[in-house]
Amino acid sequence: MINHLMLRSSGKPSIWEKRPLPRLQADGRHLTPNRWLWPLTWLAALFFAFVWALALLSYLLPPFELYHNLLHGELTPNQFRFLAVGSTLLFIEFMFARHLFCRFGCAVGLFQSLAWMGNDRGMVVGFDKQRARECSNCNNACENVCPMRLKPRSIKRRMFTCTECAQCISACEQVQSFQSDITLLKWVLDEEAIAVTGADDGREPSGKENAPDPSGKDSEK
Ligand code: SF4
Ligand code: SF4
Repeated sequence: MINHLMLRSSGKPSIWEKRPLPRLQADGRHLTPNRWLWPLTWLAALFFAFVWALALLSYLLPPFELYHNLLHGELTPNQFRFLAVGSTLLFIEFMFARHLFCRFGCAVGLFQSLAWMGNDRGMVVGFDKQRARECSNCNNACENVCPMRLKPRSIKRRMFTCTECAQCISACEQVQSFQSDITLLKWVLDEEAIAVTGADDGREPSGKENAPDPSGKDSEK
């Protein structure tokens, strides 16, 4: 939700994005940034930061006591301090890091990624490179929608932090619904997945504006 609000406010899903994303969306809609939505973005980040801090505290204290104190304005000084500091830190994280934390700070995500990388046959987003030329009619819709700011047409080791959310596949399906109606991105596994783990085989299409950086370095910044 915060990603989306930030995109609606600034045209960028994250403040670290160098340039605004194309206004043309995968489904054909045009998204015009509206800076008046910034307050809503800040409010959403603040709200979720508080909810997360509250949820964290409920791991440490009996939830009944915590919610009772909160609803009756009887938080103890320590409870108040925890919620204030936790909400502040999470607010900063939601506004300025977000996907960076998901990529590099979350232990659960890290170990899941390590297990996934260790299984060459594991399910992964596969790209039909035989039809790469068809990407020249597209504005990198699959990359624009990726919440982890990855390049879904890359090989697996460059998608270490993929959460398998499938938003890139959905975007390609929408783009291709106006063209061949056959998506270029799809889930692959077993033998097909092994091909995705291989060395860089020049899968990136050429001859297009906004072509992704084949090194994948952009997405790592
Ligand atoms: S499945 Fe989700 S996280 Fe993975 S590359 Fe596609 S959009 Fe990005
Ligand atoms: S794979 Fe699909 S969504 Fe991605 S650039 Fe090519 S046509 Fe567009």
